Amino acid sequence: ICKVKLSLYLYVITHDLFVLSVATVNCLDRHVHTSPDRVALIWERDEQGSEVKYTYRELLEMTCRLGNVLRRRGVKRGDCVTIYMPTCPLAVAAMLACARIGAAHNVVFAGFSADALAERIRDAESNTVITVNQGVRGGKFTELKKTVDEAVQSCPSVQQVLVAMRTDTPVVMTARDVAMEEVSEIIEVNKGLIKGLPEMLKEDVVCEPAVMNSEDVLFLLYTSGSTGKPKGIVHTQAGYLLYAALTHRYVFSYHDGDVFGCVADIGWITGHSYTVYGPLANGGTTVLFESTPIYPDPGRYWNTVERLKINQFYGAPTAIRLLLKYGDHWVTKYDRSTLKTLGSVGEPINTEAWEWYHRVVGDGRCPVVDTWWQTETGGICIAPRPSEPDAEIVPGMAMRPFFGIKPVLMDTEGKVLTSNNTSGALCMAQPWPGMARTIRNNHQRFIETYYQPYPGYFFTGDGAYRSAQGYYQITGRLDDVINVSGHRIGTAEIEDNQCSAVAESAVIGFSHDIKGEGVYAFVVLKKNIDIKEDDLSRQLNKMVSKKIAKYACPDVIQLANRLPKTRSGKIMRRVLRKVVERDLDGLGDLSTLDDPTAVQEIVEGHNAILRKQQQKQQP
Ligand code: AMP
Repeated sequence: ICKVKLSLYLYVITHDLFVLSVATVNCLDRHVHTSPDRVALIWERDEQGSEVKYTYRELLEMTCRLGNVLRRRGVKRGDCVTIYMPTCPLAVAAMLACARIGAAHNVVFAGFSADALAERIRDAESNTVITVNQGVRGGKFTELKKTVDEAVQSCPSVQQVLVAMRTDTPVVMTARDVAMEEVSEIIEVNKGLIKGLPEMLKEDVVCEPAVMNSEDVLFLLYTSGSTGKPKGIVHTQAGYLLYAALTHRYVFSYHDGDVFGCVADIGWITGHSYTVYGPLANGGTTVLFESTPIYPDPGRYWNTVERLKINQFYGAPTAIRLLLKYGDHWVTKYDRSTLKTLGSVGEPINTEAWEWYHRVVGDGRCPVVDTWWQTETGGICIAPRPSEPDAEIVPGMAMRPFFGIKPVLMDTEGKVLTSNNTSGALCMAQPWPGMARTIRNNHQRFIETYYQPYPGYFFTGDGAYRSAQGYYQITGRLDDVINVSGHRIGTAEIEDNQCSAVAESAVIGFSHDIKGEGVYAFVVLKKNIDIKEDDLSRQLNKMVSKKIAKYACPDVIQLANRLPKTRSGKIMRRVLRKVVERDLDGLGDLSTLDDPTAVQEIVEGHNAILRKQQQKQQP
């Protein structure tokens, strides 16, 4: 059956058919036709126990109204709308409303700073931004509208900002802003929780879907690469949707009537594919999780599982590692008998976290699927399921390629490694429907990053090990990208943010017991600068939070007189990594260094930091 479905869908894609607004008709109208009152979204609001349900009919209405607002306000097919919102029903409706009228959406994670948002708005050339007055997460408020105000000052393309109200706190409105108000009327559309555009209510609940080509753009999503500039990854209509839907159904064994709980934020690809598009294309019920794993306490996820009767739970290893430290009782006090499959995504899951997830959360009876994929792949490429129901699952391994995925490993000379029990650069030998089509405004970078390193293959940027049985295990990034709590960040992006005291810096990732990888910054101060380490750390953190986001701030800052460099002036990050990993025997050949004694200084500086950390830990 899967093969027939796949070839049918592939026919649609490869024959480049014109399809009626693929995304929204498949995600909404189709289901409204057969079961209008089925629940599409369960909004698990930050305030525990105050969830709100939206049926397919309600979501279609909200989408159509918002689509009509956008159309009337001049947003056209081919435009790109930036969405800077927390995970909530109006954000989903905003994504679908763009798709409905043939505009692309560009969701920017609501934790990004004004500068990072502005850079993404400019690159996407958005004329419209949709946001909320404030975000609410973990009981704290974030000033999203203020961040947008600051961002759009350097975005001449932006003509209008649509502002919804997540809280009752008023915000300053400018001539560019389109307000949302009049609670009582809006209750009808939004249940009074996020107050929708008053204009939305004037609009018809019918919004004719744009006729789209299967290869037209559905959305852009910015992600980090090894240079300082983020890449606007472009996904298109039919292939992406097909791939999100199929992987959602088969990797998680999703069945009609199940409640799917992906706790990722909609600002990341996981939120796009497995909170929004995959589940909705399958007519499923999907949870929109607005909170954090530890708010109001470390039982939050499992309280949600019990209350919403979640069948598939999909989360990140960083959260699992954090929760296991709080102890089993936060899990076991809740009923988790509805759970059927547990998923993990975003970074390697270590065996301890995997075992705990399986044994404690899943009571040893739910398969744990460690799913490997990326923004670029659109959906899951390697995962233990689908497979025979009792096929073995090896802890911490993504294991098996999905239908149509042909992974290969390459050696350092670019030759395909054919044997098992071997490691290499992970590439894909053939295309698949969900793959990214280009980088916005930079097709050349797309080719150079993904197709030139191994001609004839798609290069993932990751390394992998293939076991004796032929199973895949991801070993980590091969480029200058680090993965902090499952969020990708280019080391160059952080290095670009130097404060006035800094002459140069080098950033690497290091093993962190909760975040997976932490940010370790080596900093060389300008001559004659006298600054206390605490002040420097404060300044650097402020700068990185302002330019990127809080999650990118360095965990460790090591001052150095100089950095180890080659004679041509290239910083030897490999050497820095070995020092921080305490693998001094693995430093390798240092003869190519401009000044090999620089390494000794780095080692001593690192030892001093370790001593300080140990002293802090002592009671
Ligand atoms: P993103 O595009 O932000 O989703 O990040 C994708 C990157 O996260 C991949 O290239 C991997 O380095 C890492 N990643 C995602 N899923 C896994 C996984 N299951 N195991 C190991 N690494 C993963």
